[in-house]
Amino acid sequence: MKRNIGNIVFIVLILATVVVWAVFPPINDGREDFIRTYLGEVLGSLLIVLMSFALFLSTRPRWAEPYFGGLDKMYVTHRNVATSAFLLMLVHLLVVPITLVNLRLGNYLAYVAFLGIVAIVLPTLAPRIPFLSKLTNATYDGWKKLHRFIGIFFIAGYIHALTIDALSAFIAINWVQLFFILGTVSYVYTEFLGGCVGKYLPYTVTAVNHPNNSVTEVVMKPKGKTIQHAHAGQFLFVRFKGDRMLDEAHPFTISSAPHEGELRVTIKAVGDFTRHLFANLKPGMDAVVEGAYGLFNYKNGGDKQIWVAGGIGITPFLSFLRDLKTELAFDVHFYYTVRHPEEAVFSDEIEAIAKKHPRLKTHIRHSAAHGSLTVDEIVKNAGGGIASHHIYMCGPLPMVQAFEKKFLEAGANAENIHYEEFNFR
Ligand SMILES: Cc1cc2nc3c(=O)[nH]c(=O)nc-3n(C[C@H](O)[C@H](O)[C@H](O)COP(=O)(O)OP(=O)(O)OC[C@H]3O[C@@H](n4cnc5c(N)ncnc54)[C@H](O)[C@@H]3O)c2cc1C
Repeated sequence: MKRNIGNIVFIVLILATVVVWAVFPPINDGREDFIRTYLGEVLGSLLIVLMSFALFLSTRPRWAEPYFGGLDKMYVTHRNVATSAFLLMLVHLLVVPITLVNLRLGNYLAYVAFLGIVAIVLPTLAPRIPFLSKLTNATYDGWKKLHRFIGIFFIAGYIHALTIDALSAFIAINWVQLFFILGTVSYVYTEFLGGCVGKYLPYTVTAVNHPNNSVTEVVMKPKGKTIQHAHAGQFLFVRFKGDRMLDEAHPFTISSAPHEGELRVTIKAVGDFTRHLFANLKPGMDAVVEGAYGLFNYKNGGDKQIWVAGGIGITPFLSFLRDLKTELAFDVHFYYTVRHPEEAVFSDEIEAIAKKHPRLKTHIRHSAAHGSLTVDEIVKNAGGGIASHHIYMCGPLPMVQAFEKKFLEAGANAENIHYEEFNFR
């Protein structure tokens, strides 16, 4: 229940906006298009409310994580809210009477806001809509840079509402103003103020290791204050100074344990940033770290657990294992699946830890030689029934989704399946 509170609050506030407009309607000034204008203004208000939510979620408030089920789930909400706002904007445009005479500043601002939002939203939807993907040809980096301007168009959209020939609805307009303030403050905080209030902390890279030919382990030491690493399995955002390509915040799971004095992240080279990092990151470089985030924590699970790591999805489990100071308090079957032996980074360390913890049964699978890991064999090893097992998974999204489906078919409880999304877009 707690993890749904954030979404419930959003829905209540959206409904409250409709109620405020219904209970305190605008004065009918006798204009011809009164009903269309009234409806258009209600839709415009909902648009401001939705966009302010999306901007608020972009601040990545750590305190709000439990109310959404983690930052990754907050991003899912952010995406859904922003997509709804975009669709609502199109409906708003169809409903409001559009005039081409006696244009005011507000009318021009409406076009600016509309075009700006379309330019940002199309590449955002592109990864999910193949046609758009071809049309926009957008890279993640390009999209991210463009996305930073969204607050400007939000502000333009609101000023548009104030400077057109709008209906007079004192209470409703002041209600919406609260959301405009929330959205604007959130945007300014995200883009300009975060650094001043300790959201981003300076670290130094103390070592750069390459456990194989595509993975980099980065070790970092705080220059002053350390981030709040509350439990094993959390992730951070990091960027590196002194190299333009690396000076862009990316999320990575912390693969060290919270009690270690240094932070370690283990990064697979998959794209521009991570490949450049593999080749160019050097000890002594400065890092800027934000976090820690995430609720992926096996200690909140039940007595019997199944852990499944696919490829670089090993990172939260490395942190779990490195965090074991006393005997493991749960019975865990831990599956680590990779295609080839050299991809199983830190497998020696994992085996050594497993030897000290009899309740931890480790199964490292090289699928090219021994076939793909299946849920059937996991269930068999678990003794046949998995209804009460808590399942923790991290790996490529298609793998995690396929396993989730099979676990559910095998009788797992949906509430007991936990996974980290390695994708925010
Ligand atoms: C919570 C979380 C934890 C992660 N932990 C790890 C880890 O421990 N080890 C690891 O190797 N990878 C991890 N990742 C994935 C890692 O963030 C991406 O692989 C990396 O950012 C890719 O960047 P790129 O430019 O090299 O690749 P690209 O090819 O440009 O990007 C590949 C995909 O990565 C995502 N991505 C790219 N840039 C960003 C960004 N700035 N912010 C958010 N997502 C981005 C996008 O979905 C993109 O489509 C994690 C991701 C998340 C969300």
